[in-house]
Amino acid sequence: MTQNLDVEGCTVREAAAEDTVCGVVPQQVAVPSDADSLSRVMAAAHRRGLSVTARGAGTALDWGWPPRSLDLLVDTSALSWIDHNAGDLVVEVGAGTPMADLNAALAAAGQRLSYDPVRLGGTVGGALATGVSGPRRLLSGALRDLVIGMTVVRADGVVARSGGRVVKNVAGYDLAKLHTGGYGTLGVITSAAFRLHPVPEALRLVSARLDSRIRAERALSALCETTVVPSAVELDWPASGPGRLDVVLEGTPGGLEARVAATVGALAPWASGEGPVVAEELPEGWGLLPAEGTVALVTAPPAQSVTAADWVREVSEAVDAGAHVRGSAATGALSVTFPPGTPADRIRLVVEGVRSAEGHPLVLLRAEPHVRAAGIDPWGEVPGLGLMRAVKESLDPGHRLSPGRFAGGI
Ligand SMILES: Cc1cc2nc3c(=O)[nH]c(=O)nc-3n(C[C@H](O)[C@H](O)[C@H](O)COP(=O)(O)OP(=O)(O)OC[C@H]3O[C@@H](n4cnc5c(N)ncnc54)[C@H](O)[C@@H]3O)c2cc1C
Repeated sequence: MTQNLDVEGCTVREAAAEDTVCGVVPQQVAVPSDADSLSRVMAAAHRRGLSVTARGAGTALDWGWPPRSLDLLVDTSALSWIDHNAGDLVVEVGAGTPMADLNAALAAAGQRLSYDPVRLGGTVGGALATGVSGPRRLLSGALRDLVIGMTVVRADGVVARSGGRVVKNVAGYDLAKLHTGGYGTLGVITSAAFRLHPVPEALRLVSARLDSRIRAERALSALCETTVVPSAVELDWPASGPGRLDVVLEGTPGGLEARVAATVGALAPWASGEGPVVAEELPEGWGLLPAEGTVALVTAPPAQSVTAADWVREVSEAVDAGAHVRGSAATGALSVTFPPGTPADRIRLVVEGVRSAEGHPLVLLRAEPHVRAAGIDPWGEVPGLGLMRAVKESLDPGHRLSPGRFAGGI
């Protein structure tokens, strides 16, 4: 039933089909104009016992599992502002700010948030809430490590702040780390402060084609024995044919020469074809995941990332599921993408097969509707679920924030 949510500074309208979250249509959509009106509308929703899901640009609303109930969709698009303190290499930014706007503003000052998007068109709040970081997390840390402060509106409408706007900051529990990757189940992020880095003067990409798992493993070990300090070491392990290793080096043009030479030297004995190739730019679509199809995340100890990728390929080949594995060989965070329309029974066999090996947990991040409908367990065994439930209980005791989106039905 539609509720009368008359909140100052907040537009509320009936929901339409395009406001659907994983097939669940909300009753109403609220568009708060600022953090205060967001807090007021959350308090009003709390008084009425409404379930709430936040939306940024909507590009990743099909990541995670459907909310069990959804009365009110809170659209954060108006919470868009950037407060850049270039001298301190710090930026504070509204949750609804498009990632692209933030990147453009920082680039104009020769700085960056050292974070590669896996999809285009998202907002800062959405990137934080979904929380997985792209290739360059190797050098600068994951997105959550770049957050130095966060403001969140709790389920009851109370505004909670953690951290601050300076890099050296010790302020109680690091709540921002809970909200990063929490899929909006613990609060609605209103703004965040990030540490920044200067944009490096130059970049080189050294790519090597690798015909077998053994060669890929040897190439990686040889790279580990160098002192080249890459920003990213990406593995591309397609459903069939040779794999590839992409090593990103950043720094001053002078300093890069020796590092490129050392990287080429490490990879050359194991590379096939014409040997390692050096480029001065990242290819178009660097780090981006396909916008369609089911996507899983497999994690492995870094030293076993090639083994894990090859295991996924083997299991997938056996059932003709066409899985393509890519990701950070150096941190062991690998994405597995299935061609759109891959039958759910094949995906189930891959999911179960990969999970049957020790040390390679697999989580379904985005499942096509027919895969969700097949009832495949998206999370598998989740260590620490009891603790996660306790956190949810203390931050959202009524279970009104995106209920069911996260592991263990949280
Ligand atoms: C595995 C994975 C890796 C990713 N890696 C990156 C990356 O490296 N770089 C990058 O830029 N993006 C990354 N993203 C983000 C993603 O690719 C989207 O581009 C981005 O999340 C979409 O933002 P959006 O504003 O469209 O969010 P939406 O699609 O609107 O929302 C995404 C999720 O966040 C919740 N949400 C949205 N806003 C808020 C808020 N203010 N408070 C609380 N919850 C909220 C929604 O309820 C939903 O569950 C990753 C996502 C996933 C799942």
